[in-house]
Amino acid sequence: MINKVSRHIVQNEPLIFEQSSPGKRGYQLPELDVPAVDAEQALGAGHVRSEIEDFPEVSEFEALRHFTRLSTWNYAIDLGMYPLGSCTMKYNPRVNELVARTEGLAWAHPYQAEELSQGAMEVIAALENALAEITGMDAVTLQPAAGAHGEFTGILMIRALLESRGNARKKILVPDSAHGTNPATAMMVGYTVENIKSTDRGVVDLEALERAVNEDVAGLMITNPNTVGVFEENIRKICGILHDKGALVYMDGANMNALVGVARPGDFGIDVMHLNLHKTFSTPHGGGGPGAGAVAAAKVLTPYLPGPRLKRAGDLWQWNYDLPQSIGRVRAFYGNYGVLIRALAYIMAHGGNGLRQATLDALLNANYIRTLLEPYYEMAYKAPSMHECVFSDDRQAKKGVRTGDIAKRLIDYGFHPYTVSFPLIVRGAMMIEPTETEGKRELDAFVDAMIAIAKEVEEDPELVLKAPHLTRTPRVDEVTAARKPIVRWQPSTRASQAAD
Ligand SMILES: *Cc1c(COP(=O)(O)O)cnc(C)c1O
Repeated sequence: MINKVSRHIVQNEPLIFEQSSPGKRGYQLPELDVPAVDAEQALGAGHVRSEIEDFPEVSEFEALRHFTRLSTWNYAIDLGMYPLGSCTMKYNPRVNELVARTEGLAWAHPYQAEELSQGAMEVIAALENALAEITGMDAVTLQPAAGAHGEFTGILMIRALLESRGNARKKILVPDSAHGTNPATAMMVGYTVENIKSTDRGVVDLEALERAVNEDVAGLMITNPNTVGVFEENIRKICGILHDKGALVYMDGANMNALVGVARPGDFGIDVMHLNLHKTFSTPHGGGGPGAGAVAAAKVLTPYLPGPRLKRAGDLWQWNYDLPQSIGRVRAFYGNYGVLIRALAYIMAHGGNGLRQATLDALLNANYIRTLLEPYYEMAYKAPSMHECVFSDDRQAKKGVRTGDIAKRLIDYGFHPYTVSFPLIVRGAMMIEPTETEGKRELDAFVDAMIAIAKEVEEDPELVLKAPHLTRTPRVDEVTAARKPIVRWQPSTRASQAAD
């Protein structure tokens, strides 16, 4: 039974190559009123393009409609909620776009002289200061291009500090609830990874941690709140355990949407962390758009931050390249600058109280969803939720329906799926993060859809197992799509597929 279903305009748009008819043009030029010249003679043969085989020939309107129709096949944040847990899919306020397009900033060239770049440098300085205050850390770099890149930067800094003390050590500890980028980062910096168990409350097991920490351990990479959406309540003790053995603590700050304005990692003992500016501070990242993985460091690690660093010389900003202990550049120029502008605009528009309110609203929204869905779905860990809640498909699995099936069915109800099967420590995970962006009406519509699906699983599991039913393309064979992708248009392939 389907209720409250939104149906899309489904236009079965063929490939543009299939719409081509020879001689069709998307433009019209006046008759030549000058003598024609031979292009090859005028330009030289090397500069004249040869015929492109199968080049589509369509009218202007056909081209326009083709791409506009294709754009409607995507789900978009302007269409509805993206409840993707761990991703913090917010995109507001839109005025940030206007700010990012400010001419003097958008057109600034990275090779422009320092005295002509003072405004752009001021933006960097202001954002670094704001982020240092928000995190309670001593200094911030905006160079890294995304979260994982920030992790890489931070662990390189830890390695450099330990090397300066005479021993880089061998291992990085990573809780079993960590994002996959954490162990990958540790490996890339040349460490081996040791997993730390979580308790049945979903937090780091202190005894397991104490047993694991020794003189071989360079540090711990911890996410707080962690990926099951639970605050690591023993975080001070955890930092103490590492510090007592001369090891450091890296915090994956992808979940800062739950802490900004409420708690500061610098105050609970973190040595270095990254922020996903494209998650917590407004820039949307659907479709793999640009990110920014600002790294914030406590005093002991600031000499190792990537260079150059900003410094004040009289009335002017300057780039300081004289940083003997720096790990060096991690990216060309000064980071993904457009994302930085949006983050600063977001922070300044909210102010301290506004940021705190956004955090509290994000927590409220996640707990609203949790409360309404707990009668229908199994809550993986009973500890209080922060900005996201993680259910498991335990109850639905008894009917043969798994998290991926429920996610597909959610598409029929007009929502982007939640995060499926992550974190790995929850079997059949369904990870939901609404963010503070969503209002009650949208949250209620989402909850209604999830409850309707839970009832469908009881009454007609086949309906859910075969979802989606209302999309242009029905359920695809994901394994074949991944193993044998068809990425090149071939008339023969299309013809044979159509015949199938
Ligand atoms: C998103 C995320 C990352 C990686 O960040 P990117 O910007 O995608 O590289 C790392 N850890 C957690 C917990 C995340 O949610």
